[in-house]
Amino acid sequence: MTSEFDLDTSVPHSARLYNYWLGGKDNFAVDRAVGDAMIRAIPDLQYMAGENRKFVHRAARDLVDQEGIRQFLDIGTGIPTSPNLHEVAQRIAPQTRVVYVDNDPLVLVHARALMVSTAQGLSRCLAADLRKPRSILDDPVLLDTVDLSEPVGLTLMAILMLIADEDDPWGAVAELRDAMPSGSCLAITHPSADFNPAEMAAAVNAATGAGMTFVPRSKEAVAKFFGDWPLLEPGLVPVSAWRPDTSVSDARAAYYWAGVARKP
Ligand code: SAH
Repeated sequence: MTSEFDLDTSVPHSARLYNYWLGGKDNFAVDRAVGDAMIRAIPDLQYMAGENRKFVHRAARDLVDQEGIRQFLDIGTGIPTSPNLHEVAQRIAPQTRVVYVDNDPLVLVHARALMVSTAQGLSRCLAADLRKPRSILDDPVLLDTVDLSEPVGLTLMAILMLIADEDDPWGAVAELRDAMPSGSCLAITHPSADFNPAEMAAAVNAATGAGMTFVPRSKEAVAKFFGDWPLLEPGLVPVSAWRPDTSVSDARAAYYWAGVARKP
């Protein structure tokens, strides 16, 4: 029996594309072909993927360290890459529990690597689609791992551009926000044409030409994903400018908006 979560190596897939840009080995010829076409469109694409990844680490760190988050729901996890979100979080608070959600079978093939947790914490994976938030919220793995009456760190890193407007990503995110208790945080990164319209348009052409959905969005459109949750400092900013560890010469060189908000 085939399912929507079966591995198909004849069409490119975002998880493998991103793995390719990060220098990983879990990708196929179809992925590398689109990956290279997109790099021709945006020469700094691999740098951008790295900047996005660094934000994942800084956001996880600050959610644990400064916002007191001890459980995460990470949707669109990606193929494991070191360090994974739970490793960053558990280094600070070993009892942190993480549920990883992805719809790419290859991510789940690597699930064991994602599930190496501290003894005090938990790290678990589930196959589900962000376009069906109820299926995530009702999944026994989620309910066994995360206590939805305690603050949750909901992380949607570099995933929302893979969901077309017709599939109403704002509605899906709103449903997830509504299920989270007060004190929960939402972290998002999203590619945008705001920084370099010509390069981004060429990248979109390369991706859609290969049959992928890839929708860069404006700062205003990205801001709507946070609903009425106030953004933490420094707001919705270029990804490299969100609480950088080292000084960056040009924060706008990575074409992603990034922000973290907290539910009142
Ligand atoms: N969040 C990671 C990886 C981003 S790559 C990071 O920022 O480093 C995007 C991931 O989202 C891929 O693993 C892809 O398989 C997953 N994904 C794409 N569409 C999805 C959907 N509709 N539901 C769940 N996961 C999805």
